[in-house]
Amino acid sequence: MLKIKSYERVNSIAEAYELNQKKSACVLGGMVWLKMGNRNISTAIDLSGLGLDTVQELEDEFVIGCMTTLHDLETNAALNEFTGGAVRESLRHIVGVQFRNCATVGGSIFGRYGFSDVLTMFLAMDTWVDMYQAGRIPLTEFVTQKKDRDILQSVIVKKTPLKVTYLSQRNSETDFPVLTCAASLIGDMPRTVIGARPGRAMIVEDSEGILKGFGEMTKKQKPQAAQDFARYAAEHVPVGSNMRASEDYRKLLTQVLTRRAWETVGGMKK
Ligand SMILES: Cc1cc2nc3c(=O)[nH]c(=O)nc-3n(C[C@H](O)[C@H](O)[C@H](O)COP(=O)(O)OP(=O)(O)OC[C@H]3O[C@@H](n4cnc5c(N)ncnc54)[C@H](O)[C@@H]3O)c2cc1C
Repeated sequence: MLKIKSYERVNSIAEAYELNQKKSACVLGGMVWLKMGNRNISTAIDLSGLGLDTVQELEDEFVIGCMTTLHDLETNAALNEFTGGAVRESLRHIVGVQFRNCATVGGSIFGRYGFSDVLTMFLAMDTWVDMYQAGRIPLTEFVTQKKDRDILQSVIVKKTPLKVTYLSQRNSETDFPVLTCAASLIGDMPRTVIGARPGRAMIVEDSEGILKGFGEMTKKQKPQAAQDFARYAAEHVPVGSNMRASEDYRKLLTQVLTRRAWETVGGMKK
């Protein structure tokens, strides 16, 4: 059971940061993950009074406040137009609408969960996190960092021209994913992300340059590149076994989802 000694609805991030420096203090997102654990919290820090629950579309970026719910992201027209519906696809399988009306983007990204659809999706875009103390950090860097006592204020998605597709495999609808996969062209840079390996989502380095110039490839070259890179990903992405799937099954899924994702980005599949 979660036990909270005192509760503070803060008036500023500075106040939240100060309170959070105590090891037994804890920032609250939507509490959907926190409430599952056994923990004694000295001070629960509520950010809900800070107006950080909106998605702002600026000229060159989206600024998503940490308290924005997953359902607000899922139904945000501008974000979905920008990602061709990939944001909606990455979120719509997570438990249910009521749950997604509570879970926040801050809790989802800060948590860096090894099963995360959210992390996989955001890693496939030109995403940054705005931390109170550390400032703006690329998500690619943040994802490898250890959790500290900083506060995530917002998630920033740069409006770099983007083509992106999101896929996941689940044993049953609304369960945790067995594997997640996102493929994108950020400008002309190909990026592939695999998550729920089980392990934090990671970018698959294309050390052989198989997808180099993918956007400019001919209709004949694209399916071959998608197939070759899918095989490469299955060989190079570390996957493991857990109660949901074996390592072998995840290797197979890595290959299949990667190929399908690149076929979609390449316009060979809808
Ligand atoms: C049963 C269940 C099923 C789930 N299934 C999926 C799934 O299929 N796919 C998926 O992607 N996710 C899934 N999740 C994760 C979920 O979507 C949320 O990402 C996660 O629960 C975090 O929720 P929250 O926003 O309520 O954060 P909380 O539970 O409130 O907090 C989580 C952690 O983040 C910290 N935190 C919160 N906000 C901030 C901030 N702004 N700055 C710093 N630290 C912060 C908290 O202190 C805490 O340590 C599941 C979770 C549960 C409980």
